[in-house]
Amino acid sequence: MAAADSDPTVTASTCANCQREIPSSNIALHSVHCARNLQKCEHCGDMVPRKLMDEHYNENHAPMNCSLCKCTVERGLWDLHTGIQCPQRMLACQYCEFELPVIDLLEHQDVCGNRTEYCETCRKYIRLREWIGHELQFHTGSNSSDGASAAAEPKPARPAAHGSHRKQLLLTIAIAGFAVLIGSILYQRKGQ
Ligand SMILES: [Zn+2]
Ligand SMILES: [Zn+2]
Ligand SMILES: [Zn+2]
Ligand SMILES: [Zn+2]
Ligand SMILES: [Zn+2]
Repeated sequence: MAAADSDPTVTASTCANCQREIPSSNIALHSVHCARNLQKCEHCGDMVPRKLMDEHYNENHAPMNCSLCKCTVERGLWDLHTGIQCPQRMLACQYCEFELPVIDLLEHQDVCGNRTEYCETCRKYIRLREWIGHELQFHTGSNSSDGASAAAEPKPARPAAHGSHRKQLLLTIAIAGFAVLIGSILYQRKGQ
């Protein structure tokens, strides 16, 4: 406090309670008020009004159990967990739209994207992972006539358009992908 008068660069002091920079002229008043009203949350370090501490805990730190991955998540992180972090949350495969846990999805898509679909226009089989690129390359641009054959013919049927007969296959693929995953987990455990 005394230093503030002699040294013009000292204009703020750090409050010992909340660690914030407080103008030196207010630090005494602030410290008293701060210590009486604010408390540091032991979970997140935020300064919380003492009387709202229970509320703060319930809203942010109360444990929630994720039924999908069986882990315990703080309430404040719940949306993040269910939205993008939970490894067991369900997402749709980009090729077949079959929903499966994210942890299995990459492996499934590896397999799924290697399946082929017959392109009526080109009269050949195209891998699903190359389908979008194929369409862009050969079947887009109604104004740019690339190649005489493609110009007059209708657009190819999208692979997703007739998908009902495919469900059995997809299930098989999903199960196969899952089996591979389990296998690799067991293998890793043994290796340790
Ligand atoms: Zn303070
Ligand atoms: Zn907190
Ligand atoms: Zn989870
Ligand atoms: Zn798929
Ligand atoms: Zn084609």
